Amino acid sequence: MMDLIRANHITKQFVVDTDWLGRPKTILTAVHDISLTIHTGETVGLVGESGCGKSTFARTVLGLYKVTQGDVFYKGKNIKDKQVQQQYRRHVQMIFQDPYSSLNPRMTVEDIISEPLRNYGLCRTDEERRKKVSDLLEEVDMRPEAAQRYPHEFSGGQRQRVGIARALAVSPECIFCDEPISALDVSVQVQIVNMMQRLQKERGLSYLFIAHDLTMVHHMSHRIGVMYLGHLMELGFGDDVYHQPLHPYTQILIAAVPRPDPQYIRNVFVQGEVPSPLHAPSGCVFHTRCPYADEQCRQCVPVMKEVEPAHWVACHHVKGGSNV
Ligand code: SF4
Repeated sequence: MMDLIRANHITKQFVVDTDWLGRPKTILTAVHDISLTIHTGETVGLVGESGCGKSTFARTVLGLYKVTQGDVFYKGKNIKDKQVQQQYRRHVQMIFQDPYSSLNPRMTVEDIISEPLRNYGLCRTDEERRKKVSDLLEEVDMRPEAAQRYPHEFSGGQRQRVGIARALAVSPECIFCDEPISALDVSVQVQIVNMMQRLQKERGLSYLFIAHDLTMVHHMSHRIGVMYLGHLMELGFGDDVYHQPLHPYTQILIAAVPRPDPQYIRNVFVQGEVPSPLHAPSGCVFHTRCPYADEQCRQCVPVMKEVEPAHWVACHHVKGGSNV
């Protein structure tokens, strides 16, 4: 598979407080040195507890936040190049958890979906544009008559379909999906996920799929990345990470997934609360909650190692492989 997007050692910091001269006094590191590649036609799932930096990572890679350190490559070219960036902005779109807040309530569905078509000059006539809107609505399983209605007239699931139709209008190659199903009922979640998988097959789309429901991420993703406190802890094929997690944090997350099999109990327990990212622990950021933490964990930051083919883990006590 071809590299579509390569995020290279991305760090994102926010200044939360300045001194009287306006110099940064308190800095929050929301994303710490994360490298991740999204291939053509691939879904990469990103999981972790709320506040772990998943959304910030996605928004930074997309360019909604200015990157503090690191580079993003689109088809092998750095998006710092203005022309590459223009292409990247068009071909990588984003959908959000709450489509209502990202859909202008005063615009009809037709106007909402037409906006990107107009911005990129993709239709020569109004008739062509209306036809395109109608086709896009059909693609997301909505009736063409929906075009004349307003966002508040639809359910959450229907609004998410409108958001997806709008993202599809510019024929993207990749869609970053920031908790796109979290606010929906389970039955609607399944419908939206199935539709996204169909669209992926039909259009050869790639997805960066952010969610906290591990089962849904496993169902949806070819590869899964696990984040904790701004760090990527584990990355590998979906089945490997879900069925044979190697990082202690991933093992705890997986053990917490409700299962029908009562025999499935892992002897791993998480302790304490997630620390504030403003006061991230030294060494391995997970050491304050890890049942295996020792002095090395408290002192040294573990680097990502490929411990099995295509299975990367950042832990001092998971051995093997080469550094990232
Ligand atoms: Fe736990 Fe140490 Fe591994 Fe961190 S490096 S996950 S503290 S064993």
